[in-house]
Order: sequence, then C-alpha cells, then structure tokens
Amino acid sequence: MRLSYSESERALAEELRTFLAGALPQLPPRPHPGDWDARRRYDTTWQRMLFEAGYAGISWPRAYGGREASPTEQLVFLEEMNRANAPYVGVNFVGTLHAGPTIMAEGTEEQRRRFLPPILRGDVVWCQGFSEPGSGSDLASLRTRAVRDGDEYVVNGQKVWSTYAHIADVGELLVRTDPDAAKHRGISWLVVPMDSPGITIRPIRTIAGPSEFCEVFYDDVRIPLGNRVGAENDGWRVAMVTLGFERGTAFVGEIMEAVKLVRALVEVAARVTRRSATAWDDVGLRRDVGRLAADFDALWSLTAWNVSEASRDGVPGPGGSVLKLRLCEAFQELATLGMRVLGRAGLSQEDVDGLGSAHLVEEYLRGIALTIGGGTSQIQRNIVAERVLGLPKEPAWTSS
Ligand SMILES: Cc1cc2nc3c(=O)[nH]c(=O)nc-3n(C[C@H](O)[C@H](O)[C@H](O)COP(=O)(O)OP(=O)(O)OC[C@H]3O[C@@H](n4cnc5c(N)ncnc54)[C@H](O)[C@@H]3O)c2cc1C
Repeated sequence: MRLSYSESERALAEELRTFLAGALPQLPPRPHPGDWDARRRYDTTWQRMLFEAGYAGISWPRAYGGREASPTEQLVFLEEMNRANAPYVGVNFVGTLHAGPTIMAEGTEEQRRRFLPPILRGDVVWCQGFSEPGSGSDLASLRTRAVRDGDEYVVNGQKVWSTYAHIADVGELLVRTDPDAAKHRGISWLVVPMDSPGITIRPIRTIAGPSEFCEVFYDDVRIPLGNRVGAENDGWRVAMVTLGFERGTAFVGEIMEAVKLVRALVEVAARVTRRSATAWDDVGLRRDVGRLAADFDALWSLTAWNVSEASRDGVPGPGGSVLKLRLCEAFQELATLGMRVLGRAGLSQEDVDGLGSAHLVEEYLRGIALTIGGGTSQIQRNIVAERVLGLPKEPAWTSS
C-alpha cells in the first residue's frame, strides 16, 4: 500500500471532517461507565449516525451496507475519527470488528444478508462466548456441548468473561459437537440469540468498577442449525479467523486510546507540581513518554500493514499477534507512568484537585486486562514464535 495520500483520499478526509464537525455536537454527553443502558444507546446511536452518513462498515461490501473503501481509505477514516476525538465502536466491538468480519469470510450468502446489515445499522449488539472456566488459553479444550435434535442444536454448558453479554442481542458461540474427535476437530461456531430460553447471564464486577463482562449459563438452549457458521466440527478453523480479526485489526481502537492517553498524561503532568517544578519538567518522564509515543506511531504503521493484509487475503495473518503483544504491553507501561505522575492522587478513582486524574486511574485499571483479553501475552509470544518466526512448536504436554 502507498503511505502518502492521493487527491481523492485527501478529499475523503475533508468530507469526513465536515461530517464529524456537524455530527459530533449532536451526540449527548458520554454516559457514566456503569450506566449500561445509556452506553448501549450512545454507542448504537453513533453507529446509526455513521450508517446514515455512509461511513459504517467502511471496508465492508456495499451489498451488506458497507462502503467498500480501500485499505488507505480505511486508515484515512480512522485517522479522522481519532483527530476529532469521535467515539469508537464501544459496545459494537464484537459485531463490527470480529463477528461481522468472520461471517463475511466464512458465512453463507443467506447468513451474510441476515446478520451483517443489522450490525452496521446499530440495531444489534453482539457478544463473544468462547472462554469457559476451564478453557481460556487452551480454548480447544472447551466443553459446552451441542447435540443435534431435528433442525436444532440443544446446547448445555457455561461460558465466562463474555464481554457485554448482559446488553447483547446475539453471541458468537463455540460449542463441542463431536466429543469423540480430537479436541481441535469437534468444535462448531454458532450464532446464539441471547434472549433464547435457557440462558442465564450473571454480570461480573471488575477491578475498574463497571460490570463489563459476564458468566453465561446455557441450559437446554435450542439454536437452529441454520445459525452454524462454517461446517459442523470445523469451528476451530472459523474461530481462528475470528481471533485473527480480533488481534489483527480490532485493536486499532486501542492505539487511538493510547494516543489519547499520551495527551492526557502530558496535560496532567503539566499541572502536577513538585516543589518549584511540574512533573512534566522531569526529563526522565519526558524521555519515557516520548519513547512510548514513538512506539504507538510505529504500531500505527503496523496496523496499516495489517489492514492492508486483511483486505488482500480476506483475513489478517498471525502478524496481528505482534501488534496485540506490543500494543498492550506499551499501553500498560504508559498507564504506569501515569500513576507515577499522579503519586497519591492515583489512589482515588475520583478526580483529585481538578487534575484530571480519574481518567488516568481508569485507564491504568482497564489496561491491566489488555494483556489477557483476546489471548494473553504469553500466548501471543507462542504464536509469534511458531507462526511468524518458524520456531519449533511448544511441547505437546502444555496444550494437552
Ligand atoms: C477484558 C477481557 C475481556 C474478555 N472478553 C472475552 C469475551 O468477550 N469472550 C470470551 O470468550 N472471553 C473473553 N475473555 C477471556 C480471555 O480470552 C481469557 O481470559 C484468556 O484467553 C486467558 O484465559 P484464562 O483467563 O483462562 O487464563 P489461563 O489460560 O488459565 O492462563 C493463566 C496463565 O497461564 C499462562 N499460560 C496458559 N497457557 C500457556 C501456554 N501454553 N504457554 C505459556 N503460558 C501459558 C497464561 O498466559 C496466563 O498467564 C476476556 C478477558 C478479558 C481480560
């Protein structure tokens, strides 16, 4: 891909700036993180506004409501959204960034027409039901069982850490359809309506405060066979496509958050005074922040590579693990610098002395989870070692 913009790409940037200048003031104030109904309303309203303006699903085919933009145009879109401090996908994360793209790559034409347009219109919120209490990194050991009964599956089991399940309409669900096959072979990928009888959802409170994810129990939940994406027992391969999108391109939003955090940290550091100087006068701090800001710049270029690769091959490659690994670790380093700047003010989740400290504390707490969600850093290192660098596979005993 080219890294400088053509005339038409610059025109798109201009068009986006005009749209954002008109649209953003129409949004209500951002809701409190714990007010889930308001958060859902806010994020789906923004999604609908993007859809009506023709910017939802920027890279998706027009047949499903998208704009069929080139990789460079996608980056122009993301840059302008970032520049205007526009909301990112929020609770539409799973639908827009990995369930939708998986259905596009692996679903039937009927499934694409049924599931994709409502995502772009902001009509439905998705969640992900992959992890189980005994199956996180070793996801292929999952035990939630689906048994065929006529033209339906009957599902029994438990999922955990299902982000946004309590406000979701549908979920991407991994189930075991052949308990006798080797563990990677007997899995299927289903779409589950979250209001199906037999589903119990219990939100889990996190260290940061709001209950962002849930444990979900499935008791004799009936799911039509027509909701299976990919062939029966081929769900592991489909799940790898989902995780490729989740790690490769879906983390773009976190780079934008990281860049915003750099700005916020610099502003707070200029306000924090120590004796006769401010925290920002500390050369060591400025060097550390500068180094991380350069990292985020480099990660943005890596994102350009991933977006380009995904649009050429249909799905992102294992290089997405490189992005996820460094981005999440760099984010944590930055958030830790924020706590160093705050000193004792970092002990409160409320704003202290009008410093703007609450945001830094919130990002520090949120950042702790980043190196776990979407696959831990250790697992990303394994993937990079085996699939990018071609090193020998890890011994079988660790994954059996
Ligand atoms: C913010 C957040 C959101 C999430 N959202 C969802 C969601 O929406 N849906 C969903 O299904 N799941 C979700 N998850 C769950 C996430 O995918 C799992 O937490 C993750 O895969 C790790 O699994 P685990 O928690 O069971 O840890 P474990 O797999 O038990 O790992 C424990 C430790 O052992 C290490 N380890 C394990 N195996 C190996 C190995 N082979 N080599 C080296 N080290 C290893 C791990 O790196 C980790 O440090 C979310 C998690 C977080 C934090």
